[in-house]
Amino acid sequence: MAKYTGSVCRLCRREGAKLFLKGDRCYSSKCSYTHRMTPPGQHGMSRRKKDSEYSLQLREKQKTKRVYGILEKQFKLYYVKADKMRGMTGENMLVLIERRLDNVVYRLGLGISRGQARQLVNHGLICVNGKRVNIPSYLIKAGDVISVKDNKKEKAVFTDIKAGRSVNLPKWLTFDNESLKGNVVALPQRDDIDFTIADHLIVELYSR
Ligand code: SF4
Repeated sequence: MAKYTGSVCRLCRREGAKLFLKGDRCYSSKCSYTHRMTPPGQHGMSRRKKDSEYSLQLREKQKTKRVYGILEKQFKLYYVKADKMRGMTGENMLVLIERRLDNVVYRLGLGISRGQARQLVNHGLICVNGKRVNIPSYLIKAGDVISVKDNKKEKAVFTDIKAGRSVNLPKWLTFDNESLKGNVVALPQRDDIDFTIADHLIVELYSR
């Protein structure tokens, strides 16, 4: 599977916003974006021209892809799927992405970033309804139970990740720290997404 292997902090500078891709470091004084906010590259320091409509749409799409760690082809598939659903395409698309297993693992606090959560899923450490699922894009449903592989060594990994960290659980999830089990109480709604995303710009871009 293709993946981005460059510097993730560079992506924050490119998008002109903190994308929180490095876990705890993003909340500390070590965050490189707080020290250097200019876009990367040789001409990053030069004065920027006024953004065109297209560039605003493109940047919004790139930012969303990067926050969730999704590459172009798969991201477009979410748009195509959302477009066929009832309701607002942009909202449907974000809700679909929010339902990804790697995102849910991150939201439950089992990974310090979406990148780490994806790796934990890839390595087969996460179960859905008691069955091991190693597909990060797996879409969770209301009523699903997300748990950690029942193995002492694996449980210790997750206990370490959670130690000393407070996680703001979204209202559609519950989590039991003892058993390391999370419940999907309901499907996420557009308002549950705590990151500012102008989804209408992404829809406009793809429907050009
Ligand atoms: Fe972005 Fe986090 Fe790096 Fe800061 S530490 S620049 S928020 S990825």
